[in-house]
Amino acid sequence: MSEPITIQDGHVVLFHYVLKDDGGQVLDASDADPMIYLHGYGNIVPGLERQLLGKSVGDELHAVVPPEEAYGVRREGATESVHRSAFPSDMQLEVGMPLRAEGSDGQSMVLWIDKIEGARVHVTSNHPLAGATLHFDVKVVGIRESTPEEVAHGHAHGPHGHGHHH
Ligand code: ZN
Repeated sequence: MSEPITIQDGHVVLFHYVLKDDGGQVLDASDADPMIYLHGYGNIVPGLERQLLGKSVGDELHAVVPPEEAYGVRREGATESVHRSAFPSDMQLEVGMPLRAEGSDGQSMVLWIDKIEGARVHVTSNHPLAGATLHFDVKVVGIRESTPEEVAHGHAHGPHGHGHHH
């Protein structure tokens, strides 16, 4: 049991991170509690998941992730404008806010509010971080085997079984 384990598919990994853009601006960071995820199940951006493979507890890495391995490249013509009245009147609309929508093929998709100009709300299928190269400073703080339930769900559960939302 004392053998150190390295990150492999099906392991639950805990890590702290700071995410910066190309200009060194901090975009996101872990809180007091580390980020927890199930490795190999696409729960974090693919480029970071790939670079965490084989790491051990205590390892620190600086991972540079291009858009293709993060939130995709920014696509032209992916924005359209919708009238404010298409949204519930009591809904607070903010730039960067994700919206669940139904595509023409009936599939559920996520759109983001790109810009609000008066009564025109511009929505886009580009993720707010599409086109961005991501710079992660990561420290691995925990690795454990997953439970069969976690593998069945395809994601990690909290250390005490809390924080489970479906
Ligand atoms: Zn679950």
